[in-house]
Amino acid sequence: MTSVHAYVARSATEPLVPGTVERREVGPKDVRIDIRWAGVCHSDIHTVRGDWGPQPYPLTVGHEIAGVVAEVGSEVTRYRAGDRVGVGCMVGSCGKCAHCQAGDEQYCVEGMIATYAGTDRDGTVTQGGYSTGVVVDEDFVLRIPDAIPFEKAAPLLCAGITTYSPLKRWGAGPGRKVAIVGMGGLGHLAVKFAHAMGAEVTVLSRTLGKREDGLRLGADHYHATSDPETFQALAGRFDLILNTVSAPIDVDAFLGLLAVDGALVNVGAPGEPLDLHVMSLIGGRRSYAGSMIGGIAETQEMLDYCAGHGIAPEVEIIAADQINQAWDRVLASDVRYRFVIDTTTLAA
Ligand SMILES: [Zn+2]
Ligand SMILES: [Zn+2]
Repeated sequence: MTSVHAYVARSATEPLVPGTVERREVGPKDVRIDIRWAGVCHSDIHTVRGDWGPQPYPLTVGHEIAGVVAEVGSEVTRYRAGDRVGVGCMVGSCGKCAHCQAGDEQYCVEGMIATYAGTDRDGTVTQGGYSTGVVVDEDFVLRIPDAIPFEKAAPLLCAGITTYSPLKRWGAGPGRKVAIVGMGGLGHLAVKFAHAMGAEVTVLSRTLGKREDGLRLGADHYHATSDPETFQALAGRFDLILNTVSAPIDVDAFLGLLAVDGALVNVGAPGEPLDLHVMSLIGGRRSYAGSMIGGIAETQEMLDYCAGHGIAPEVEIIAADQINQAWDRVLASDVRYRFVIDTTTLAA
């Protein structure tokens, strides 16, 4: 075992504190990564604060990891020391079930092994990216193309794939009207992807506060959901609405914005049940769906797509001692648009 520097949650209610986590020795198929950048995802906060159920403390979160390969196991073929690599929301799956075989490891019937707060094959609790190093099976390591600025790469590993995958699956492209709900870490990337895919893009945000940014990042239209007029003016308009907000929404109101055969897809995950009048679906052959990250091959495809289309998140770089403050700002939607931890500051 090797100790690495980390920021650690000791409970659901205390601030994160500097500490260490243990990493396993490098096995034959393992890659040891010196973490250089770690994105701050809203899920990190939900998890630590217990919004999604009890957690195994002490816990280090972070599932947007960008780093450099430090060492590879004897059977590793795809990576070598010095490569720029990333790790996202999962670090293992059974590899044998139909979903794993189809490249949907995130829906593994045995359950994917989450990058943090998961149970690893050796029975230990997985610890995430707010740390200076990690050891990961090469099958769950992604290559970061040179064209993506290194300090901006990490958020693509969760926010990027979470939005890219459903936009592609539900056909965002030329001639399609796509709405993105929420202009946060996920939403701003969804705008960039949907625009690059050729769709007509509308942002639906609570206020018009980030309108300038939305239009600059590729949106064609921008509307405030706090204005009831919006729901009348845009009724029946969209082929796809991607909801990136993890707070509860008025589902019927948003379904009313869909055209016939349109789909409302949630990637934000509210902790509480939502109400829905089924007539909102029946009355337009509409769908209400969900989507969770994407498989490993699709995540690599997304990274290569970003490199080819000049897509990267807008980030704000922070030092380790700013993490707790950054979490408060994420909860207040006061970040443009993703915090990234400079992990060299974890060792200080
Ligand atoms: Zn995430
Ligand atoms: Zn599986």
